[in-house]
Formats: sequence, structure tokens, C-alpha cells
Amino acid sequence: MASRTVLAFGGNAIAPDGAGTAAQQTERLWSTMGQVAELVAEGRTALVLTHGNGPQVGNVLIKNELARDVVPPVPLDWCVAQTQATIGFTIADTLTYELAQRGLDQPVVPVVSRVLVAADDPGFGAPSKPIGPWLRDEAEVRRREAEGLAFTHVPGRGWRRLVASPQPLRSVDRPAVELLLDDGAIVVANGGGGIPVVDDGDGPLRGVEAVIDKDLAGALLAEEIGADSFAILTDVAGVAVDYGTPSQRWLETVTVAELREFAAQGQFGAGSMGPKVDAACRFVERTGRRAVIGALEDIVAAVHGDAGTQVVAS
Ligand code: ADP
Ligand code: MG
Repeated sequence: MASRTVLAFGGNAIAPDGAGTAAQQTERLWSTMGQVAELVAEGRTALVLTHGNGPQVGNVLIKNELARDVVPPVPLDWCVAQTQATIGFTIADTLTYELAQRGLDQPVVPVVSRVLVAADDPGFGAPSKPIGPWLRDEAEVRRREAEGLAFTHVPGRGWRRLVASPQPLRSVDRPAVELLLDDGAIVVANGGGGIPVVDDGDGPLRGVEAVIDKDLAGALLAEEIGADSFAILTDVAGVAVDYGTPSQRWLETVTVAELREFAAQGQFGAGSMGPKVDAACRFVERTGRRAVIGALEDIVAAVHGDAGTQVVAS
């Protein structure tokens, strides 16, 4: 089996300044895919790509809210599926072009992919992930709260919807991903953390209103398909201790134990670097293999072990 690599792209890879038009998002993805094509050209052909969708799923939600009196709003799992489709086809388009520029014709196949979560995940009782627009109308917020939605309030900015972020348990579409890899495709999977589904045991899987962390869902898939390396690409050079202070220091090679210790000290932002560190640690702990957290501009060097923060077993 060719050695497999999983690359996870942050929301910044796709949406400059947290938003961006379709054209801007396409442009950003395109420049990233040039580097991905470089990896393929040097022989790293068994690739799985995954991506965040924070800004995009927020935008889909805004459209739902604004149009709720015209067309029935769709649940969050549908919104996640929609973002997998648009980001997935854009990756396929731009990567296929970059491969062709290098004389390569590997197919790129985005998979609309589901990720199993537990119906009793504690995350459902404590929604923690803010998504979508800031709301200003308190009466509207109270009405939605009565319908069962949760909100966080920041004085001066307004209210923002909070959704559950349950733990990913299993990539439901892993068998399809493996078939495609075995047949020589590059696969885009578990985008936006995957479409969250629960198993009621007496019917089809059921989509639930949640957003799974994309770094954790990427680490899970990397483990499930036996990837030999897992790379998380974001908008900083790697993992720093004392981040944003005069004593800031970038970590080059670090063991899981050391990284867990820094995490316990509270070195990493809760909604940002924290889940990346957790995802990298999980992959390394469960497989003994290497993970890297690095900058989007350094994909090739990061995968080679020459850039970013390399996380090793010991
Ligand atoms: P993505 O969209 O790629 O998921 P995030 O914004 O969620 O990116 O996470 C990357 C951000 O994490 C960086 O831009 C940085 O501001 C922040 N961060 C928080 N703590 C750290 C740290 N200790 N080292 C590096 N970056 C950190
Ligand atoms: Mg993020």
C-alpha cells in the first residue's frame, strides 16, 4: 500500500478574513492546491484532503435565517453537507488543473461524508461552538431560545448561536474513501468535520444539529485509514509557547507528552490552536506516527518534516 498522507486545511485556507466571495475563496484554494500538486508530483500520491468550514457554514446559516419566511430553513447537518459540496468541487477543480500542469491526471474525488457521534455526547448538553451571524434583536433571541436554541451574549456585539461540538467516533464513509484511494484517486473527505450523524439502531443514520471539530475529524480519518503522516495547515508557522508574548517560542520537534503538558498549562487557544494540538496528539498517541502543525504556505516542507511543529511519539 502506498504510504498515505492526510492534509487538513484551516478555514483561513479558504476564506480570507473569515469570509470572502466565491471568487476569492477559489483563488485561495487554487494557490494552496499548487503545493498539493507538488507533493503528488514527487510521488506522494495517496492523499486525503480535509478542510474547515466555519465561515462558509455561517454564511449558509445566514441565508437560511433571512429566507425563513420564504422557504423552509434546513437543519445544520444539511448546511454542513452544502459546504462540503462547494468546497469539495472547488478543490477538485483547482487541484485537477494544477496536476494537469505537471502532466498528471489522477482523479480528485470529493466525498459527501458523514461522521458518527454519540446521541448522548455531553457536548449536546453544553453547546460550545459559536457559528453564524451576530444577532442584535433580543426579542428574536428569546423566541429562538424558547424553540430550544442556545446563544452566547457578548455585550456590545450581540448574541451568537451556540451549537454542540460532539466528539467524532467513526468516519461512516471510510470504506468509500479507501476504495477510491486503492483505485488511485485523491480524496476529499470529512470536510467541515463531517456531517454529524447518530445511530438510533432502527433506521437510517440520522443527521444532528452540531458542528464537529475538523481537526479532530481529520485525525480520526488519518488513524482509520492508516495514514503515515497527518498535517494540519493553518495561518501560523506552527505551535508556540507563550504565544503573543515577548517570550514566545516556536516549537520545532516536540513529543506528545511535552505537548500535552503545555496544553495542561493552558498554552493554546480554546477554539483555535487547542483542538489542533489535541488532534495531533490523538493521532500520534494512537498510531505512534508523526503529525505536524504548520503554515499553509509551507505544506511541502511541513510534510517532509522540515517546517512547522513536528509532533512525535517519543
Ligand atoms: P484555522 O482556521 O486554520 O482552523 P484557527 O484560527 O482556528 O485557524 O487557529 C489558528 C490560530 O491559533 C492562530 O492564528 C493563532 O492566533 C492561534 N493560537 C492560539 N494559541 C496559539 C499558540 N500557542 N501557538 C500558535 N497559535 C496559536
Ligand atoms: Mg479553526
